[in-house]
Amino acid sequence: MSTPRIKINIKKIAHNAKTLNRLYGSKGIEVIGVTKAVCGNPDVAAALVNNGISILADSRIINIRRMRKAGVQAEFLLLRTPLLSQAEDVVKYADISLNSEVSVIKELSKFAKMNYTKHKIILMVELGDLREGIMPLDLDDTVKQVLALDGIELAGIGTNLACFGGIQPDNDKMVSLSSLAKNIEEKYNLNIKFISGGNSANYNWFMSTNDVGRINNLRLGESIYLGCETLYRKPIPGLYIDAFTLVAEVIESKIKPSHPFGKIAQDAFGNVPEFQDRGKIKRVILGIGLQDVQVSGLTPKADIEILGSSSDHIVIDARKIELKTGDEVEFNLNYGALLSAMTSPYVFKKVEENFWMPKNIAKALNKNTAIIKNYFQPSLLKKTTLD
Ligand SMILES: *Cc1c(COP(=O)(O)O)cnc(C)c1O
Repeated sequence: MSTPRIKINIKKIAHNAKTLNRLYGSKGIEVIGVTKAVCGNPDVAAALVNNGISILADSRIINIRRMRKAGVQAEFLLLRTPLLSQAEDVVKYADISLNSEVSVIKELSKFAKMNYTKHKIILMVELGDLREGIMPLDLDDTVKQVLALDGIELAGIGTNLACFGGIQPDNDKMVSLSSLAKNIEEKYNLNIKFISGGNSANYNWFMSTNDVGRINNLRLGESIYLGCETLYRKPIPGLYIDAFTLVAEVIESKIKPSHPFGKIAQDAFGNVPEFQDRGKIKRVILGIGLQDVQVSGLTPKADIEILGSSSDHIVIDARKIELKTGDEVEFNLNYGALLSAMTSPYVFKKVEENFWMPKNIAKALNKNTAIIKNYFQPSLLKKTTLD
């Protein structure tokens, strides 16, 4: 089978999505499923939707288009605050977007009016992480300007923490967001639908509080895919942490020295490498490298060690394990590795344990058995796509 490939276990992702949706739902918090780490993969997206998630969010319009085109039935939210030059497509493809700049919202308003639609926005508030967001003192004025725009519906306010500055979404931050929401609602006599408190990093806050205040929404990616919270990367009880597996193939296997010989200078990336001398070792080369995946985010499943990598190779110490050319080696991935492997066109995406099919096909199945035959062609079931 083709390598390198990333195996995507849909059943495990579905289980994680369902479990988190129930958990957060128990205190009145709705989960938005974030698809950017899987580049809007329609099989993954459908698994989220089929397990109770009705809004999907991605940072790229191209991924939202991909899911729409595949027939995924959801509302779509654009996560990255829009580029000014992108406003027309945002209105066309996204139902909701996160925003922090009035100039951009005015542009969204222009295209919404042109298309006789209303575009929903969630205003992002800066609470200390220092990525996107309006400073709290400026929120009131921004709301006033937004409410005056046609074609725009102020659907919510939100914040994003633990992404750039590593700031914890703790009780103080969530109380701040709740009270900002309350002030705006009172002042402008509004009912704000989404009060979106953050991302996978909000797990610890959620578990430690009985009163979530006005927070009624979170946008979750990593905890669904990798089964962990993201402040300390601890596994969340009851979730799978191995829904994704990266598979690479051995292209050379020899007993060689562990220390390079000759005069040392720079390696392929301009670094002067240092190596430990541990005598002769089982040096194995895998046909996968930095063009495929962020190698530093890989953990081998077997007891072997990654010694280093270049664009197209990973060199490992196979220790006590026998590996020959053609053998496969498996890795778990962290978020960076997952994102890079899903983004790389060189990594085959192998969807496994999937029982979802597009709605139009499911409908047709009831009427026409010829379609059943076509749909269940082995090539379609064992889908390996270079997409
Ligand atoms: C990526 C992203 C998320 C999801 O973050 P996870 O850590 O994957 O849960 C939520 N909100 C915004 C604005 C994002 O960019």
